[in-house]
Amino acid sequence: MKFSTLALSNDMLKNLEKIGYELLTPIQKEALPYILRGEDILAKAKTGSGKTATFGIGILENLDIKKFKIQSLILTPTRELAYQVADELRLLAKFKHNIKITTICGAESYFKQVNSLKHNAHIVVATPRRLLKHLHNKTLNLDELKSVVLDEADRMLDMGFIDDVSEILDFTPVNKQVMLFSATYNDEVLTLSQKLQNNPKVVQVEQKSNNIVEKFYKVDNKDEALVDLFAKYDPKNTIVFCNTKVKCDDVAQFLQTKGIDALALHGDLEQYQRVDVLTQFSNYSCRVLVATDVASRGLDIKDLELVINYDLAQTEDIYTHRIGRSARAGSSGMAITLYKKDEDIVDKTDIVFEKDVKKVDSFLMKPKFCTLVIEGGKKDKLRKGDIVGALTSTKELKAEDIGIINLQKEQTYVAIVLNKIDLAKDILQNGLIKTKKYSVWILS
Ligand code: ADP
Ligand code: MG
Repeated sequence: MKFSTLALSNDMLKNLEKIGYELLTPIQKEALPYILRGEDILAKAKTGSGKTATFGIGILENLDIKKFKIQSLILTPTRELAYQVADELRLLAKFKHNIKITTICGAESYFKQVNSLKHNAHIVVATPRRLLKHLHNKTLNLDELKSVVLDEADRMLDMGFIDDVSEILDFTPVNKQVMLFSATYNDEVLTLSQKLQNNPKVVQVEQKSNNIVEKFYKVDNKDEALVDLFAKYDPKNTIVFCNTKVKCDDVAQFLQTKGIDALALHGDLEQYQRVDVLTQFSNYSCRVLVATDVASRGLDIKDLELVINYDLAQTEDIYTHRIGRSARAGSSGMAITLYKKDEDIVDKTDIVFEKDVKKVDSFLMKPKFCTLVIEGGKKDKLRKGDIVGALTSTKELKAEDIGIINLQKEQTYVAIVLNKIDLAKDILQNGLIKTKKYSVWILS
């Protein structure tokens, strides 16, 4: 079913065509008609099925752009997800330049947020605790709110945000549209729905069609097994899931000693470190991410080839979310679970157990790119073209040596083919971008 069959504005339709969304995903097809009509919705669909655009399109279409008040609020359990949702919304909102979307998350400067909020916004994407602080201090006002979304609602409950969420909703008008989204349901989510929603439309989309091949390997030493498996499959990119922060660090370090370029991602890292790591992973400057489940929720890393459960997932839901990082939006992927003989694996009927893998001593796994950071970004009015122009100005670098460019507010991350990274740094250090000199460094 095409987007044009829905009653969407022409601008929105044109924009969707431009960003390459042609057909509705199943959840979009089921849920959007209700959302557009302003009805409450309780939606469940597998990961990677386009839930963000489902509520995003609905919210944007129902926005009164001339009214410069917060009309929609999206709550997410983690900051990374908030940033990602905001980015997707901005992409969807491109057809109207004057829609303002703001993120309010912990670990950002509170006072900067206060200042930014003085200019108001149409849509706020937030993590609960920081938002609550603004509400208590009256630096943010939700009196004109028309709709609220709880993304990854079950995760929000798991993380103990239930009281915060209820308190936040006390600051909002009684009449509003409430949308709950999640890939998994449980009794608590249903209780939350009963508490917050008014006769919600329940929309569920079948779970089974993910194109993920699931494999299970019984091993004696999980560290060594990882190296063997990388040598066997040589994945373009992979996330290895561990249950603790310490384990993530240990495993990443071990892999590095074996020639495998790996980074750890977990909650003990500073916010800027998390952004650095995620940027390097998503622009192919790092092929192996060793992460806790914080990283598994909601994050959309395009074309993830392989997910490895180094530690067993503690519940079926966690397992579903982990392996759902692969095979996003219809592409295919593989999920491997490592277990030892004394470990119980999830009770599944369709498990395929694998034979031993060939043992190797080490395996060289280098990324295609390396990341250059430029101390300038959107606030300096830089655009991707300016950066490509500066990098190729001496004719030593070609456009194909440059990978993904990630333009942030104050910084820009540029992926450069690994063996040209020093050259790229020299070019920018000795030259100008547009008319200005910027400091640059290599992220490693
Ligand atoms: P979910 O929240 O359901 O886990 P996301 O909203 O993160 O999934 O979407 C997964 C990916 O699918 C994103 O990269 C998004 O840009 C893409 N996507 C969403 N809707 C469409 C569509 N209609 N056509 C093509 N791609 C889509
Ligand atoms: Mg999502």
